[in-house]
Amino acid sequence: MSRLDSFIRRMQAQRDCLNWAAGQVRGMAGPILEIGLGNGRTYDHLRELLPGRDIHVFEREVRAHPDCVPPAHHLFLGDVREQLPRATRMLGRSAVLIHSDLGTGDHAANMEMGTWLGPALDQLLAPGGYVVANQPLDVARWIRLPEPDGVPKDRYFLYRAA
Ligand code: SAM
Repeated sequence: MSRLDSFIRRMQAQRDCLNWAAGQVRGMAGPILEIGLGNGRTYDHLRELLPGRDIHVFEREVRAHPDCVPPAHHLFLGDVREQLPRATRMLGRSAVLIHSDLGTGDHAANMEMGTWLGPALDQLLAPGGYVVANQPLDVARWIRLPEPDGVPKDRYFLYRAA
């Protein structure tokens, strides 16, 4: 498979998982967290899927498309290692959906990040809340969910908190 094909399939899996998870949380009260704004594609998609909801965004340096920059009061600007604990103090375990899209093509670095990222996100996740992630995250309280129809296994990762 070419790198282009692989990229397209990853984006399709990401979109399909976000669409599915948004359907699960539409009736649940609580904020949404977008971890990694990037150029704002998935933030924009979440805004469209869940209009009117509070979406808190984490990013160390905003370089998004100008239309996709969150309002300052919904932006946790800086390294997530510092901003996630800050958000926990402000929001507690209230998020009903967390989309985590950090990391790079460096598999070993991503795996190392997963060891602290999962537990840090867990402090923000409401009971019964959902996590959609671009990498595996191992948290005892979370149950791994099967991919939605049409999404290949292990391309994107879905969890629900007990
Ligand atoms: N979801 C985005 C989209 O659809 O456009 C793409 C996100 S991009 C893959 C990952 C983003 O995470 C980058 O913008 C990067 O700056 C940010 N990031 C990576 N590590 C971070 C960290 N430790 N703290 C804060 N932001 C980080």
